[in-house]
This record gives sequence, structure tokens and C-alpha cells, in this order.
Amino acid sequence: MTDSYDEALLERRRRLLGASYRLFYTEPFHPVRGDGVWLFDRHGTAHLDAYNNVACVGHCHPRVVAAIAHQAATLNTHTRYLHETILDCAERIIDTLPAPLEQMVFTCSGSEANDLALRMARAFTGSEGVIVTELAYHGVTQAIAEASPSLGSRVKLGDAVRTVPAPVDHGDGAAAMGERFAAGVQAAINDLAADGIRPAAMLLDSVFSSDGIVTDPVGFLGPAVDTIRRAGGLYIADEVQAGLGRTGVMWGFPRHGVSADLVTLGKPLGNGHPVAGVVARRDVMDHFGDVARYFNTFGGNPVACAAALAVQDVIAEENIVEKAAKVGHYLHERLAELAQASGRLGDIRGAGLLAGVEVLDDNGQSDATAAQALVDALRQRRVLISATGPGGNVLKIRPPLVFRRDHVDRLGEALGECLAQHGSLP
Ligand code: PMP
Repeated sequence: MTDSYDEALLERRRRLLGASYRLFYTEPFHPVRGDGVWLFDRHGTAHLDAYNNVACVGHCHPRVVAAIAHQAATLNTHTRYLHETILDCAERIIDTLPAPLEQMVFTCSGSEANDLALRMARAFTGSEGVIVTELAYHGVTQAIAEASPSLGSRVKLGDAVRTVPAPVDHGDGAAAMGERFAAGVQAAINDLAADGIRPAAMLLDSVFSSDGIVTDPVGFLGPAVDTIRRAGGLYIADEVQAGLGRTGVMWGFPRHGVSADLVTLGKPLGNGHPVAGVVARRDVMDHFGDVARYFNTFGGNPVACAAALAVQDVIAEENIVEKAAKVGHYLHERLAELAQASGRLGDIRGAGLLAGVEVLDDNGQSDATAAQALVDALRQRRVLISATGPGGNVLKIRPPLVFRRDHVDRLGEALGECLAQHGSLP
């Protein structure tokens, strides 16, 4: 139960932060300390974090904390001076990405990265049109909010933005799924053309997170990427959610056997420290450099880069991606067992340590209210997840990548208990 201390915080929050912020959970959570996959409240009670993808190598990883502290105590400036750490960081990240991605610019957030990628694509193609999925979320700037339909119908889409239905797996294979998705992209291109607009870019979250999580069967992205390129547009892979091992491989888009013209990175890059960026083809960067100059006061500062570099070190040294693949496999098995046993869980999507689980009512229909009730019931059992998809009908499980099998067991046990009491779910 929320006590009087937290009630007072809630009141201050409403008074000071205003109306646009939302809190998770009917009973808000107030963590004061993090360690690995655990978040601790004021009373020292541990909560299993099965949601925070930002702290990808675990909350407060000592190696990352030490790198930040050391660099902060030494120098923190910006990218207008020479500095090895900035270059080491860019090099390490570029090295993990497939050709033709060769050069990197730094931002502070995924939103800024997408905003910049869009400017680069528009400058390179000389076109304006942008294609996103129907429930896409790409960030907060004006241009990007106008390409983020998941913000709701009261946030107007841009005049040059068109939406396509997210890919849907009908069980007929990646090729058929890809053709259906590409047909949507072609329809959007035609619709733009009818208004005299040529496409600059197709901007896709590589795991379609806000559309309800769609990762498989692998290979379904190919036809859509071909379609946008045939029309003269670029493919921007938004890896803010998918990147850095989330699906059990380093990046989301190469799983589908496609190349990207630009990639945007964020969230897990600094394990919580704000560092993000765009990696692009050299010719796209060259063109942007010809028409514009780029400087971002905080983007890519030495402390941010020290954090990102330490994250790369930890990922390599602790075999984080391989482990995420293995534990992720176990997580998906466990969820399938729970679905079988309960009858209240439908489609289970995702890969690695990313899972989207559709919640059903007694008649087998998608049930967003029950999904919210399950999220709250798990929070009462000190397990943290959230919900996504249309109306929030899909449980979203996305823990730090240092999640282990025993953590999956704890999550599975709690979810099993909540489902067993499904009579009390709405
Ligand atoms: N793209 C995707 C796919 C995201 O999920 C998010 C954040 N949820 C963003 C972009 C924006 O990132 P940021 O909040 O760092 O601006």
C-alpha cells in the first residue's frame, strides 16, 4: 500500500511535474537503489526488474559506474575537441554493425537520433515522405512525434507521414508475411505520390515494440526494405529498443537478412547514462556534412562515451548477448508452459530477452483490462513488467540482459500465481 510518505511525493509530483507525465502501476513504485536485476524500495525490499532494458548489463554495473566516475573526475567537454574516448566508442559501436554502416554521430537520446536520421534521409533523397507503422513510437521531438502514431490521435501526424499496418504472422512463413507488410509499404508510397510527395525514409523499430512486439519469423523485413529503396527512400532501422543484444543477437535488423542505410541507437547504449546516436552510410553522412553542420553540446561527451565504451566491454567480457539468447529461450519456453496451463495467454511473440504475451479473456478474445490487472498483480508480488500493443493488451517482458534462469523461474512462478487467480482478474 502507498504510505503517507509516498502520498506526499505523489502530490509534489503532480504539483511540480504537471499533467503530461504518467506513472507505472496503480500503486506507484518508488525504487531507491538498483543492483543487477533488482530494484529496492525505501524499506530495502527487492523487486525483480523484468522490464528495464536501459540498464542492459544490470543496474549500477560497477564497471560502468567506475568508468563514468573516472571520466567525470578527469574531464567532461564535448565533441569539438580531440578526444580518444569519443573515437574509441564510435569505433567499437561501428565495428559491431554490418556494412555499409560506417560513420557515427552522437546524440543524447533516441528521439534526437531519429530526428537527425530523418533530416539526413531527407537531405540525401531530396524527398520528404516518411513511412512508419500504425502504432510506432520513435520519440519526442516535433518531427518525430509527428511520426509516432502510438502517442494517440490527438498528436497529429505530419503531412508527409503515412502509416502501414505492422507485420502480422499468420503462420504462412516469413516470405508471405513480408509480402503482406511490403504491400502496405507500397500502398503508403502510392498514397504519398497521390499528394505529390516522394518517400525519404521508412523508419521501423526493428522489434515493433509499441505495435505489440513482432520479431519472427526472421526474414519478413526483406520485401519492405526492397520496396522503399525501389521508390528512392532509405531504410532507417530504429534499434533503440532492439539493439545491444535484446533479441539474443547484437542488432535487430540483421536478423532479417537486410542492410540498413541508417541506424538509430539509444536506451541501453550507456546502461542508463544518456548516450545515443546515428550510424549511417558514408555517402549519406557526406551529403549531410555538405549541407549542414552538426554539433550537440552533450551528445558524445567524454563521460557519455566512457559509459558506452564500458557497456561494450561488459557485453563482450561477460558474454551478455550469448547468455541473453540462452536465458531468452528458457523464458519463452516457460511462458509457453504458462499459456498452456492457464488458457488466459494467447500469442507469445519476441526473441531473446524480449517477450510480448497477449492476454485473453474467458472467451479467448484479446483483453487489455486483464493485461493491466496482471501487470499490477505482478507488481504486488514484487515483479516488474509492463504492457504494450493496441490498448495495452500485450504483456511486455524486457529485463536487463543479465537476467538468469532462476530469475525467469521467479517471474514464471509469480505470473503463474497471478494467472491461477484469474477469476479475480477483470
Ligand atoms: N525509438 C524507440 C523504438 C523507442 O522505444 C524510444 C523510447 N521509448 C525512442 C525511439 C525514443 O528514445 P528516447 O526516449 O531516448 O528519446
